[in-house]
Amino acid sequence: MSEVRVRIAPSPSGNLHVGTARTALFNYLFAKKAGGKFVLRVEDTDLERSNEAYIKNIFDSLKAMGLNWDEGPDIGGPFGPYTQSEKFETYKKYAQKLIDEGYAYECYCTQEELEEEKQTAINEKKAYIYSGKCRELTESQKTKYKREGRKPVIRFKMPSKIMKFKDLIKGELEFNTALMGDFVIMKSNGTPTYNFAVVIDDMQMQMSHIIRGEDHISNTPKQIAIYEALGAKIPEFAHVGMILAPDRTKLSKRHGATAVSDFIEQGYLPEAFVNFVALLGWTPSDGVEIKSLEEIIKDFSIEAISPSNSIFEFDKLNWMNGQYIRSLPNEELTKRALKYIEKYDLTEYTKEKIEEIIAAVKEPITVLSEITDAVEYFFGEDVECNVEALDILNASEAKTILSKALNLANQFDYNNHEQIIEKLGEFRKSFEGIKPKTVMWTLRSALTGRLKGADLSSIISILGKEKVLHRIKKALGE
Ligand code: GLU
Repeated sequence: MSEVRVRIAPSPSGNLHVGTARTALFNYLFAKKAGGKFVLRVEDTDLERSNEAYIKNIFDSLKAMGLNWDEGPDIGGPFGPYTQSEKFETYKKYAQKLIDEGYAYECYCTQEELEEEKQTAINEKKAYIYSGKCRELTESQKTKYKREGRKPVIRFKMPSKIMKFKDLIKGELEFNTALMGDFVIMKSNGTPTYNFAVVIDDMQMQMSHIIRGEDHISNTPKQIAIYEALGAKIPEFAHVGMILAPDRTKLSKRHGATAVSDFIEQGYLPEAFVNFVALLGWTPSDGVEIKSLEEIIKDFSIEAISPSNSIFEFDKLNWMNGQYIRSLPNEELTKRALKYIEKYDLTEYTKEKIEEIIAAVKEPITVLSEITDAVEYFFGEDVECNVEALDILNASEAKTILSKALNLANQFDYNNHEQIIEKLGEFRKSFEGIKPKTVMWTLRSALTGRLKGADLSSIISILGKEKVLHRIKKALGE
């Protein structure tokens, strides 16, 4: 069997979208599983919509996900260039070849003429197909049009037939190409259309399989017809279902983040994100969903990709990210959390203590950005109280509890977590007529300004004597 060569071919008209990221991942997995090559190609023929910042975002996001390519614009390879805007001459050459061999022709129709054709189709309640009226233009007609200043497009002569192909995911597919009409392959400004450039590139880059979103199924017969006209080997096709939002509509910005970089910025771990995205359409053979990229490669097969759409469950992503966060060693988690806590004066604590803080707050965290708020009360001398904490501190029993807590704070051995747990245990039960829960809430409110947070004994041990005493005194109004 010839070598497996697959590609991801993003158009840099936006940041890397999760849909493209999933297509990239499936291609990457397929290549790695088969010991083949994963190629990155930039489809920037639409020069107005493409920009450098998007290209950088796409490259960075793919790298962050660990989807390193074997050939691409930045690293080259045997079939470059890997950027379409560097290949305009090549597309021109192949378009001319198709004209010379009778598979394509120049079309001089103006926008107005095409509009008229469309209007007639609408009036007759028919689907619009280009009439093909420029198919048989004579040289003198062409010269006349040129003199009028008309610039031609090049159209491909779409054969009329029933075209069948076997999609590796969708199964047997059938199209009546007579309904497609002669489509444009080169625009009048000399740039290729997507359907043409993609075939030339996939042919030149010797792609064995085209794995992409099902929104491209309707393009496939056009592409196959071009391969046939060029006498080129037709790759295998595999079209993956779409990714829908939980409300079953197309995933879009109104549902939340859609760019990979936004997810990473919010604090989804790239490895958790990759794991989650793999499950958008692919099912592991053993039913175990949490898997590293290496494990996914081992288990991956195209047959295990569902032909249906998948739902992007934000709740599941959050759950999964939380699992990954909690499984990271504290040192590593702290490293990754640093950018979310750098607004605080980190010199207040040693490196070890910062790790203790992160470990103390990590339990309920689903995305790293939540860490900013979760660690807030560890920093600075004073704390700001939220409404619930203020209510607790204003209650009648607060003074009694806090006065005694001041004593307790002098008895803690701050380097001995066990001792703190023990002392707190005694303290909470030491008030007649006051519930242990109220005792703890009061102390917690004084120390953190809120009712929820890390384990209180850890907080005390990390804050240390000075801060603990200061905050209790402050709550007592001293
Ligand atoms: N540039 C196209 C896209 O981003 C590539 C489609 C394909 O894989 O053929 O949708």
